Amino acid sequence: MLYQKLLTGWPMPNLMRRQILSGMSHKKIHLPTKVCVVCLRPFVWRKKWERDWENVKYCSKKCRQMAN
Ligand SMILES: [Zn+2]
Repeated sequence: MLYQKLLTGWPMPNLMRRQILSGMSHKKIHLPTKVCVVCLRPFVWRKKWERDWENVKYCSKKCRQMAN
């Protein structure tokens, strides 16, 4: 559920944000986001894209395939 909210870019309730921050205070909670060029939905940075974030244009494999 929390992951879903991150993905869709909805604001998190403050209480939830505080819990996350206290769990990993050394990390910033604000992750970069982009808008998928196919479905036009926002998506959030993921670990698997850490080396290639600048080139990521699609939120999923499905969208990438639709673009090709
Ligand atoms: Zn997409």
